[in-house]
Amino acid sequence: MIETGEVWLVGAGPGDPDLLTRKAEKLICAASVIFYDALVGPGVLALVPAHVRLVPVGKRAGRHSKDQQTIDALIVEAALAGEKVVRLKGGDPSIFGRAMEELNACRDAGIPVRICPGVTAASAASASLGMSLTLRGLARRLTFVTAHTQRGKVLALDWQALADPEATLAIYMGKSAAAQIAEGLIAAGLPGRTPVALVENASLDGEASFVTRLDLLPLAAKTAVGDGPALLLIGEAIGAAAKAQNKASLQSADFDPQR
Ligand code: SAH
Repeated sequence: MIETGEVWLVGAGPGDPDLLTRKAEKLICAASVIFYDALVGPGVLALVPAHVRLVPVGKRAGRHSKDQQTIDALIVEAALAGEKVVRLKGGDPSIFGRAMEELNACRDAGIPVRICPGVTAASAASASLGMSLTLRGLARRLTFVTAHTQRGKVLALDWQALADPEATLAIYMGKSAAAQIAEGLIAAGLPGRTPVALVENASLDGEASFVTRLDLLPLAAKTAVGDGPALLLIGEAIGAAAKAQNKASLQSADFDPQR
């Protein structure tokens, strides 16, 4: 499954260990060392056998513990030392996961490296909300975008391209930039009433979600969620899901035998 001197970039999914792929679980059990991110769920780490060396290399906004080059070097070093290396990353490794740097570092050192995909946060967030990310006729496009900026830099996104009323935007690392996101999209023509969902800790204990409108997003991002990882979903598909849920709860109230 995993040879000595080989590296696997493994998607740990959004947090719930039941959302780990079977392949990821097999790799975790076959590794000799695992370098893992801060976003890897505790339930996933609990699956790691006791003999496997677990090394945290976590990064969370504003709290960098190891820079990317150090992580690249650690992985390469371990593989050259003949370890079976798993680099465990939250969600899917190829989505805002710095996977390319690690792939290149391995390839440059002549180390075989492969990827095991994972369930990305946007999929977990839409599942928690009971909604579809795409919607026939209403959301024809799904855009994954990161609002992360390098320290001190202004968020420079192509707002015109993003302000598509027929798209769902899944914004990663967007909570602290919520005000700039709302301002940019509204200035580019997206209506202030466009539905927005904030989903924190999707699939984890402490999961919370809040549905609001684009013009109220800055306030909601400050007050409605805590400091767990949060995803922003923006677009009419969210509104359709909220409407359907309201209808369903009204209907069940109509049929409530207690009334
Ligand atoms: N590779 C990861 C994303 C890494 S970027 C993936 O595919 O999901 C980190 C960002 O992902 C966080 O800031 C947050 O916006 C989002 N995220 C990751 N896990 C999450 C979760 N369980 N709930 C909500 N958002 C999450």
